[in-house]
Amino acid sequence: MMVFKNRLALINLTKREISLEEIPQEIQFQYLGGRGMNMYLLARRFHPRIDPLGPENPLIFGAGLLTGCLNLGSRMNISAISPETGYLGDANMGGDFGAELRYTGLSHLMIVGKSKDPVYLWIKNGDVQIKDARHLWGLDAMETQRAIRQELGDERVQVACIGLAGENLVRFAGVRTGLKSIAARTGLGAVMGSKHLKAVAVRGTEDLEIENPQGLLSYYKDLLKGLMERRWVQALGRFGTPLMIALGNTAGFLAVRNHQWTSVGEAGLGLVAENLERYSTGMVACCSCPVHCRHRLKIEMEKDKEVYGEGPEYASVGSMGWKIGNLYLESILQLVELCNRYGLDAISTGSYIAWAMELYQNGIIDEKTIGFPLEWGDSKSIKKIIHMIAQREGFGDLMADGSFARERLGPKAGEFLLQVKNLPFEMTMKG
Ligand code: SF4
Repeated sequence: MMVFKNRLALINLTKREISLEEIPQEIQFQYLGGRGMNMYLLARRFHPRIDPLGPENPLIFGAGLLTGCLNLGSRMNISAISPETGYLGDANMGGDFGAELRYTGLSHLMIVGKSKDPVYLWIKNGDVQIKDARHLWGLDAMETQRAIRQELGDERVQVACIGLAGENLVRFAGVRTGLKSIAARTGLGAVMGSKHLKAVAVRGTEDLEIENPQGLLSYYKDLLKGLMERRWVQALGRFGTPLMIALGNTAGFLAVRNHQWTSVGEAGLGLVAENLERYSTGMVACCSCPVHCRHRLKIEMEKDKEVYGEGPEYASVGSMGWKIGNLYLESILQLVELCNRYGLDAISTGSYIAWAMELYQNGIIDEKTIGFPLEWGDSKSIKKIIHMIAQREGFGDLMADGSFARERLGPKAGEFLLQVKNLPFEMTMKG
């Protein structure tokens, strides 16, 4: 049931060179779709001394094996050496970008080098162009997508881009597409920023060649039936992943106040998934996904300033919520949206803020270091520190280095950061 055409575009931003190559079938069978093929391509370029923010770090976009094909897939992976960890960087995102990339006739992009000035890539049906993005530099992730669609005169163009966090090389910046989808983890937005690559825009109308269309159709029908009969999937389609919140709170696997506790008890009742419906205008899906697990949200960011957002996922609610002692749903939605616009990984952002809060709680850092008090759940300070991180201002500049900030804060501070190989973890598992 293979999707046949897997074609790679190799783009060198320093030399402004572009070449296309077919990915041989034996390699496709060996490594399969997005992540597998990305790892193969990354290994081709890897050497142990690659600077994650240097021009030689290959940034790889890979559509999933069946992405764009019936309702079977909409996901894609972005990979490189991670600026957040120094090790393998890999993150997955939904939305419509992956499918649209496939409809251009390409399945993978490998981007190396660094452009002198900001640029974006414009890919239409296999034609790849490098375009000036100086006028886009400084725009947030939503403004960037809007501006590119307007410039290209096509509302159906899908854009993966960075916000200010990626431009400022925040080590946990992600790559954003649509209202909420983000290849969030491991700092791949900073890799894009280091290459002066503001965005990749794609629009395709090519057909996908399928090895066995009839076989695929009958497989798909069985799969769809089995999937949609599951109560878990039906619940996801109504509440999204936040349906995990009540379970996590009762079973005790939340990461409260930088993992000091595992539940917030009755104080968490305001955060249960049902309460999101107050802000939701309906459920939406990544390209063709029958599950449609995402709320389309109307959020008041400031007084009388409403914006549309999407999500939020369980992990983002936790990171902007109980992990930093914030139990107010409206404030959580605003903070997640702020991260989305800056193109920040909400999980890492919340984790590093939680770390700083616990350091403040224990007197390891003080008001003089931060510039203001940093109390658990104080949404004004949290908002301020997110702005400072994305713009690398004051204490935010230090936080923007993520786990590497331990080197400047000292070994005692390092003991309070919960991470594995420099990547902060998301939640506490009961063990
Ligand atoms: S709509 Fe939900 S379940 Fe479907 S691909 Fe997107 S994130 Fe996954």
